[in-house]
Amino acid sequence: MWRGLTLPLPLPTSCTLVKISATHPLCLNKPAAAQKRNRFVMPEYPPPYPISSLPPPLLLLPQTDTPQHFDYLVIGGGSGGVASARRAASYGAKVALVESKALGGTCVNVGCVPKKVMFNTAILAEHMQEAGHFGFYKKGPLAGVDTHGKEAVRETFGFDWKAIKDARDAYVHRLNGIYSTLLKNSKVELLEGIAKFTGPQTVMVGGKEYSADHILIATGGKPIMPHIPGVEHCIHSDGFFALEEMPKRVAVVGAGYIAVELAGVFHSLGADTNLFVRYDGPLRPFDSLLRETLMKEMSSTGLHLHKHCTPAGVVKEEGTGKLSLALASGEVHEGFDVILLAVGRSPETEALGLDAAGVATVGGPGSKGYIKADAHQNTSVPGVYALGDVCGKVELTPMAIAAGRRLADRLFGGMEGVKADYNDVPTVVFSHPPIGTVGLTEAEAREKYEEKDLKIYTSRFVNLFYGPWTVPPEKKPKTAMKLICVGPEERVVGLHVIGMGADEMLQGFAVAMKKGCTKTDLDATLAIHPTAAEEFVTLAPWGLSGKEGEKARAKL
Ligand SMILES: Cc1cc2nc3c(=O)[nH]c(=O)nc-3n(C[C@H](O)[C@H](O)[C@H](O)COP(=O)(O)OP(=O)(O)OC[C@H]3O[C@@H](n4cnc5c(N)ncnc54)[C@H](O)[C@@H]3O)c2cc1C
Repeated sequence: MWRGLTLPLPLPTSCTLVKISATHPLCLNKPAAAQKRNRFVMPEYPPPYPISSLPPPLLLLPQTDTPQHFDYLVIGGGSGGVASARRAASYGAKVALVESKALGGTCVNVGCVPKKVMFNTAILAEHMQEAGHFGFYKKGPLAGVDTHGKEAVRETFGFDWKAIKDARDAYVHRLNGIYSTLLKNSKVELLEGIAKFTGPQTVMVGGKEYSADHILIATGGKPIMPHIPGVEHCIHSDGFFALEEMPKRVAVVGAGYIAVELAGVFHSLGADTNLFVRYDGPLRPFDSLLRETLMKEMSSTGLHLHKHCTPAGVVKEEGTGKLSLALASGEVHEGFDVILLAVGRSPETEALGLDAAGVATVGGPGSKGYIKADAHQNTSVPGVYALGDVCGKVELTPMAIAAGRRLADRLFGGMEGVKADYNDVPTVVFSHPPIGTVGLTEAEAREKYEEKDLKIYTSRFVNLFYGPWTVPPEKKPKTAMKLICVGPEERVVGLHVIGMGADEMLQGFAVAMKKGCTKTDLDATLAIHPTAAEEFVTLAPWGLSGKEGEKARAKL
């Protein structure tokens, strides 16, 4: 289809012009910069050769249902897709976005956003239980209770799961609307339905075919359910957000951040919570200090952590509807209202018809079928790109957004070679207490660098928040920090923290790390007092690992 060009020739009404590939001679006279950016730019008209010299099928075809054509067609209206579509449209590209469910994708509907609402709810519950330590007590029938005791305060509050669920759903619904408005305002055309490739540059949505110069696959992922008997009685993370009432006794199976976060919400809201992990603890890829501290906090608050457990089956008791979880070891745990399986996620590719486009996925044993994409988000097919959870590289919203924007910058903004940076990605686990982490873990650093080049500072302390509590210090929640430095200049290559406020603490330090900050830079930064974060700029030599630390501690 000829776009943005008035054709001086009278064309036969029964004919239509078809798009010609960017490498066809008709395109060779497009400006060099545009050629580099692989943008489809119309040739000068009239062309410098007689039009009759062209093979007729290339230029003129009998009138058929020509697919509506876009510069950029984005499949998936989640974090990466929306960001990329809007950025491309801001450069003047003609963009369409296909979404089969609710706009905003996983993050907005069944991920970060509703999860954070529930984390906030859980933190509030914790604070209400802790309020007695700060002199609060309930007036009325319970007046006169011992406000020093946690239980006394706890009993004064009721909790209505349905109320926060309804408020949360309404908020998510508002966000869906905001996404729709943002797309409209950005002049991105929304196509509702499931997108399926019919060729490398064509996609079918709701029985209509569309073509595009560039097609982005940003279809995200979905929870995996293991093949065990009785799995139909279990829920996954999407099901967590659909729960209409608060379960009293819960099993969460899984060791990743989603399992940890959702178990933490249940537990802090008062459910009898059991977390079953396959190996020796949750969050295996995380730094040992974070894992150990988290496990201690789980145990001190009464969350039941079951290690070395592999689920083998689930049975639903008739009559009571209670669920039992059988483990591969033969052990059976009974009496659950909910069993939530958070054992991993896989890419959402089934409906895409990738074979029609020839897009390659990662193969091999144990492969989940992620789409193969290089550092510039190119797939195996020229003009088809993929990013976000469907590629499985760094499954986080800001990563999908960054990759989406960089891709649009490269394709439509003239920023040749630009790509997203997948290194030193800061991330937070909204556990109880929360975790913030960026860069190498100690184990990774020890593998990468020689012992003599490493300096590892650790600190463990009680946040001032717990200062006035009238409980023995060993019972107060702990904050733990680790700084991993390399070389004589002590460049920071890993920074890890667990404790109250860790979630809001990390972002600034991640900026510093991106700029290559050293321990000296941190030491030269004035502390903000009294905060927990100040510990990162006051880490002392006695917190060092190895002989140097021993010497410093001996001098204390
Ligand atoms: C419980 C949970 C908590 C999370 N918490 C966090 C967090 O705190 N912080 C964080 O950074 N990340 C978090 N994440 C991860 C984050 O949600 C994802 O990394 C992010 O949403 C990935 O974005 P995406 O664009 O790749 O895919 P998605 O956001 O999943 O969007 C994909 C979209 O494509 C649509 N789609 C799929 N197939 C088709 C098709 N054939 N046609 C049309 N549309 C299609 C889907 O309906 C979906 O809307 C969480 C995830 C979960 C599950």
